[in-house]
Amino acid sequence: MGKLLIVGSVAFDEIETPFGKTDKILGGAATFISLAASQFDVESGIVSVVGDDLPEDYLNLLTAKDIDISGITIVKGGKTFYWKGKYHNDLNSRDTLITELNTLADFNPVVPDNYKDADVLMLGNLHPNVQLSVINQMEKRPKLIILDTMNFWMDNTLNELLEVIKHIDVITINDEEARQLTNEYSLVKAAQKIYDMGPKYVVVKKGEHGALLFHKDEVFFAPALPLEEVFDPTGAGDTFAGGFSGYLAGTDDISFENMKNAVIHGSNLASFCVERFGTERMVNLEKTEVNKRLHQFKALTQFDIELQ
Ligand code: AMP
Repeated sequence: MGKLLIVGSVAFDEIETPFGKTDKILGGAATFISLAASQFDVESGIVSVVGDDLPEDYLNLLTAKDIDISGITIVKGGKTFYWKGKYHNDLNSRDTLITELNTLADFNPVVPDNYKDADVLMLGNLHPNVQLSVINQMEKRPKLIILDTMNFWMDNTLNELLEVIKHIDVITINDEEARQLTNEYSLVKAAQKIYDMGPKYVVVKKGEHGALLFHKDEVFFAPALPLEEVFDPTGAGDTFAGGFSGYLAGTDDISFENMKNAVIHGSNLASFCVERFGTERMVNLEKTEVNKRLHQFKALTQFDIELQ
């Protein structure tokens, strides 16, 4: 069983979509990543920080999935990170209305001793200095370091982000962010520029249009499953990253060929995440449903063309 260390926010999210809105519910990058990774044969632990205002029930949802939360610091009297977003009618774009870092603002991550030898390190969306500090605390270099980030950190902490990117193997970002990071419209050119920054693999997430995996001169594409019902896209990117990293840690194979499978698993799990608000669908997801949908994925992309 592979060991996966996950770093990222554990949050209160408040979400508004054309189909309704929520109060403050459980969210955060590390939350979605760990729930997705729990679908695989991995031992996973989270490094994060919350305030004591986060209901215990929320953390119990994670421990019920065997996710190790001993690396989540609970600050007495502190307030948990709070994010509020509103989706546009097409559900492909959203406005961030509120980002309150709270306890995340001066977070000094501490990696638990038993995760310092993790096989795969999944650096979820957080301050790049926190991501770098976790890399530096590892006893030996993980076989694979994956980093997810977003425009918030490109806007506010670009130099720190460029520093941590030097140390990683795989970056997962969305198409707009890839363009912002590189000033290139073409995603092929953007991926090439990102190679020069450090990562050997670039995953570009394109929401309902799937995901691209770049490595050297090769590119692999996974579609997103056309869904009847999309309720709330929050966490889809993190769920993708959780499926991608969880599958790779579980199979202990970080070849490019296996990364193609990881992209499919990530896309498959993300397709569930968006079907309900917040973490609701991921918390109740059964392995049989996951497998059934993998078959649909295969059918969606398989064709038998005669090549000359
Ligand atoms: P996604 O929809 O995959 O981009 O992820 C949404 C999740 O990211 C939400 O659950 C938020 O709590 C979390 N999030 C949003 N902004 C930030 C940020 N600046 N730092 C860390 N986590 C964030």
